[in-house]
Amino acid sequence: MSAVMQIQTRALKAIHDYMFEKGVTHIMPVIMSTFTDPLSHKVDDAEIIYKGQRLKITKSLMPFKPLVLSALESAAIYTVSPCVRFEKETGTKRHLLEFSQVDIEMKDAKKEDFMQFIEELIVSVFSAVKKDCKKELEQLGRSLRVPETPFKVFKKPELVEKYGADFETIVSRMGSGLFWIIDHKREFYDKEDPGKLGSYLNYDLVYPEGFGEALSGGEREYEYEQILSRMKRSGVDPAPYRALLEVAKEGMLVPTSGGGFGVERMVRYLTGAERIEDAALFPKIPGQEVLI
Ligand code: AMP
Ligand code: MG
Repeated sequence: MSAVMQIQTRALKAIHDYMFEKGVTHIMPVIMSTFTDPLSHKVDDAEIIYKGQRLKITKSLMPFKPLVLSALESAAIYTVSPCVRFEKETGTKRHLLEFSQVDIEMKDAKKEDFMQFIEELIVSVFSAVKKDCKKELEQLGRSLRVPETPFKVFKKPELVEKYGADFETIVSRMGSGLFWIIDHKREFYDKEDPGKLGSYLNYDLVYPEGFGEALSGGEREYEYEQILSRMKRSGVDPAPYRALLEVAKEGMLVPTSGGGFGVERMVRYLTGAERIEDAALFPKIPGQEVLI
């Protein structure tokens, strides 16, 4: 675990250095709010009640990030944020009940801009770890490859047709480079392609060697009517999102693209750990009793 934590330390420094070089504003996490990310899979929300008001514990920094960019002059923001998700699925080797997410959002960016930004970040982080953590990688028996850019891009509907529901794991096991899967039908805030309704301008980044999903994100909906219609279609109650909807109604929500990646999943991949709990201190594993 000492070697794992040293690699995590180097990776986080490389992430912060990269963000600073790119002029990305570092914001602090939001831990509690009236709403949190609805996500596209069912997760029990963690809640607390303070003076009669029900507050949700953060599952991700969506949809706070576009609100922040609408208020600040910054071209881009990021945070390293704790997230709590009472995941229902057990035994995945890549889910924790509590994890940390590097959550990024860029103003006026298209999905290609964001994807390129992330590819550069990955190369920068992997190169730093490979160069400065030789001893630790050797101790862990990990031969780490710095991927070549641009990463391959696959369309989800085509992968589903070819490989069925387990497409992500199958393709992840096939190659040795990170790759993108685009066009997922999911949360109301990921932008639908106006030129091709029923398609979505979003993406997942996937680690090779069977490690699976690294990051999810997309271009975001920012127009009031479209957000309302997307909420209705995905069965999301608009009431808790009143503040977001008011900003959108005033035409003040700016177009953005963004995404988030899990720190523990990145450290798991960098170190070649069998399970995510081998890359986290005090891991809380879905389906298992919490020890500490
Ligand atoms: P999402 O937008 O829900 O896909 O979450 C963004 C990223 O956070 C994922 O791509 C993972 O890297 C990470 N992540 C999500 N859920 C978990 C979890 N339960 N445990 C660890 N990492 C997670
Ligand atoms: Mg995801």
